[in-house]
Amino acid sequence: MKLNQLDSLTGTLENTETMPVLFAGHGSPMNAIEQNEFSLKWQEIGKALPHPKAIICISAHWETRGTYVTAMEKPQTIHDFGGFPQELFNVEYPAPGSPQLARETAGSLRPEKVGLDESWGLDHGAWSIIKNMYPKADIPVIQLSLNYEKSPQQHYTLAMQLSELRKKGILILGSGNMVHNLRRLDWNRPEGGSDWAMEANDLFKKLIIRNDHQSLMAYKDLGNAVQLSIPTPEHYLPLLYALALKEKDEELSFFNDKAVMGSLTMTSVWIGKGAA
Ligand code: ZN
Repeated sequence: MKLNQLDSLTGTLENTETMPVLFAGHGSPMNAIEQNEFSLKWQEIGKALPHPKAIICISAHWETRGTYVTAMEKPQTIHDFGGFPQELFNVEYPAPGSPQLARETAGSLRPEKVGLDESWGLDHGAWSIIKNMYPKADIPVIQLSLNYEKSPQQHYTLAMQLSELRKKGILILGSGNMVHNLRRLDWNRPEGGSDWAMEANDLFKKLIIRNDHQSLMAYKDLGNAVQLSIPTPEHYLPLLYALALKEKDEELSFFNDKAVMGSLTMTSVWIGKGAA
């Protein structure tokens, strides 16, 4: 019997080339259906990446007490927003789940107790982006929740344990926004960011380039502009998941590096092979 046949019998994934890791700013749910510079970039990236065997998404929109992975065969499309056109509520993204990957992910995260979830599905943090990357919905997707009892450092440490999955053809995607303050949204200003938003975003990029993940974890010490940018941590933490998976000498590039509506930045990071 060949080794890979054995692998599939024992339920583990074969080794492949190390997959890149992404952090993507998702912004407005409308990016799911609009053809704009952000969604076009996601489409381009879907074509540029090595074909993943499956995707693990860490979305800002799934916070739980305790850590969970979605483990159902057919995750539902969750329309977790209000006040948008019916067209957006009609979107279904029928990508399969992967109970096998859910178990393997939970195993990788031991001794953390990871619950196998049967009730969530795919929230818009996941599907608005992945639908553009992989419109055929033929790649299994699971989500890993954000345990809101953890500190940024604890999230980072947990995320590091996912590194082996990168070598098994799994794409790990953090979905949030580096700068995200909905209370300060300026609807009259579709493009561009306030001074504090740009200041924080520039600082984040500098620290990312310097591999200064310690400072990024201790974001509460980074001054006023950063506090305005991260009023609550859920949109920022997926960035830490992506950075935790970066090997020291791996290449990195930014994409969709733009601010919208004054207080949101779409700035996204590609880590690993293929980073332009
Ligand atoms: Zn969001």
